[in-house]
Amino acid sequence: MLRGLNMDRQLMISSLIDYAGRNHRSTEVVARTSDGVVTRSTWGDVSDRARRLAGALAAADIEQGDRVATIAWNDHRHLEAYYAITGLGAVLHTVNPRLHDEQIAYILNHAQDVIVFVDPDFLGLAERLAPLCPKVRRWITLGPDYEAFLASADPVDEWPLLDEWAAATLCYTSGTTGHPKGVLQSHRAIVLQTWATCTADGHNVNSGESILLSVPMFHVNGWAIPFAAAMSGAKLVLPGSDLSPEAIVEWINAEHVTLSAGVPTIWLSMVQHLQRTNQDIPTLRRIAVGGSAAPRSLMDTLEDDYGVFVAHVWGMTEMTQGSSGRFTNRVESLPREEQRRRQAMAGREVFGVELRVVDGEGNDIARGTKTPGELLARGPWVAGGYFGIETPDSHTADGWLRTGDVATLDDEGYITIVDRAKDVIKSGGEWISSIDLENAAVGCPGVTQAAVIGLPHDRWGERPLLLCVVDRPVEHSAILRQLAAVVPKWWLPNDVAFVEEVPLTGTGKIDKKLLRERFAGHVWSDAAN
Ligand code: ADP
Repeated sequence: MLRGLNMDRQLMISSLIDYAGRNHRSTEVVARTSDGVVTRSTWGDVSDRARRLAGALAAADIEQGDRVATIAWNDHRHLEAYYAITGLGAVLHTVNPRLHDEQIAYILNHAQDVIVFVDPDFLGLAERLAPLCPKVRRWITLGPDYEAFLASADPVDEWPLLDEWAAATLCYTSGTTGHPKGVLQSHRAIVLQTWATCTADGHNVNSGESILLSVPMFHVNGWAIPFAAAMSGAKLVLPGSDLSPEAIVEWINAEHVTLSAGVPTIWLSMVQHLQRTNQDIPTLRRIAVGGSAAPRSLMDTLEDDYGVFVAHVWGMTEMTQGSSGRFTNRVESLPREEQRRRQAMAGREVFGVELRVVDGEGNDIARGTKTPGELLARGPWVAGGYFGIETPDSHTADGWLRTGDVATLDDEGYITIVDRAKDVIKSGGEWISSIDLENAAVGCPGVTQAAVIGLPHDRWGERPLLLCVVDRPVEHSAILRQLAAVVPKWWLPNDVAFVEEVPLTGTGKIDKKLLRERFAGHVWSDAAN
C-alpha cells in the first residue's frame, strides 16, 4: 500500500469543544436548570468548565474507559459533563430518568458506572437507587454539590490524546422487549456522525443558527446536536425539564431560535398551543422531526401556517440520524404535492448509513418494490454490537444491523417505515401499518392524538383497534371516513375507542406494549367482522 501523507490526528470529541472554546468563545449557551434559573454562559465557559470538571474527575480517580453516568435534563452542567467525561477518555453514560427504578438500576449495574451526576429533580430516585448500585462510588448533584466538585481540582491543561476507537458514549435502548441494550460509540463514530449532522443533508447544524435542543440529552446523545453545536459554533438553548408547548414557544421567541429537533409529540402539542393562543414563531425556519413517524397533517400545518420546514428523518440509538430529510435538487423542482409525499416518508438514505431491505429469508428486496421487509443498516457509526452482551440476532451474518423496522425503500433511497416488526398488525396473513392509520387519524378534525394496536381476532388473527384523544365530540363514522380516504378498506380499525391520553414511553413514543396490555381483554363490538 502506498500510504497517504496526512497527519496522524485521531478523531476526538475533545477537539470539538476545543474548537468552540477557541473560535466561538462568546457564542451563547443558554440553559434553564431544574430550579427554574436561566443561566447564560458561552462556549468559552463550557470549554473552561469542562476542563475543570475533567480535572476534578481525574482527581477522583476516574480513568480511561471508566463509565460515568448522568441522570439529567438538558442544561449547561450536563453539557459540561458531556465534554469533561469523554475528553478525559472515560465513557459518558446518559441514563433515561423516565425508566422504571429496576431498569435504571439494571443499566447502572450493567454499565458498572462509578460516578453518577444527578439532577436535583432526581434526588429521590438516586436515594432509591444507591442501595441497589454498590459499584457507584459517588453521586454528585448538579447544583452546589457539582460546583464544589468542579472547584476542587485544577483544570486539565491539555486534553489527553486518545485512540479514536476508544469508547466515548454509552446509551441504552429502551428495552421494550427484554433487557435494555447498551450502544457504545467510539470517539471516531461520534465525530463522524457529528460531521454528518452538520451537513446540509444532515440536520444542517451551522454557525448561523440558534438551536433549541428539544431532544433530551439522555435520548441518543440529543441526536448529536450537543456535539454538532460545538463543531459549528452554533448558539445553543438548553430548555431543562420543561418541554411544555408554552415553554417551547417562549424559548423560540426569546432566543430567536432558528432550528430545533424533537419527536413528533412535542411539535403536535406546540402547534395546538400556537393555534389556541394565536401566537407566531417567526424566527423558526426548520425542525428535524424523528424518533417516530411524523403525521403529514403536522408537517403541512407547520409549513403552511408557520413557515417552518420539517425535515422528517429516521434514526435509532444504534446510529443516531439514519436518513436525510432534505429535498434533492430534483425534488425541489417537483410540484408541492409530490414534495410532501416524500416528506411524509422517513427521509432518504444519507451517506454514511447504507440501507437495505430483506425478506424473511434474508434475500434483498429490490428498491422500488412495494413489498416491505426488514430494514438493515451498515456504516462506520452504526453499532456493530452491544456493550457486554452477546446478541446473536442483532446483526446478519455479513455484519448488517437488523433494525427491527419493517420498511420499503424506493429508487431514490426514500424509506417508508411500515411499522416496527413488533407493532405491525398481522391480519389474515397481510400486514397493516399502525403508523399509517395513526397518521391518517390525526388528520381528522378534533383528533389530537391517535394510537393503533393489533389485538387478537378469531377470524383474522389480529385486527386494529384505534384509540383517539379528542378535543371536541367526534363521530366514529367521521374518523373512519377520513381513514377510508387514505388506506385500503380492509385496514379500517374494527373499533374506535376514545381515551383521555395516549401513554408515552420515556422517549416520547406511543407505549404500545402498555396499550396492548391495557386492552388485552377488549371484546370487538362486531364479533362477526
Ligand atoms: P427506543 O424507541 O427503542 O428507545 P430508539 O429511540 O433508538 O429506541 O428508536 C428507534 C426506532 O424509532 C426506530 O427503529 C423506528 O422504529 C422508530 N423511528 C425513528 N424514526 C422514525 C420515523 N421517522 N418514522 C417511523 N419510525 C421511526
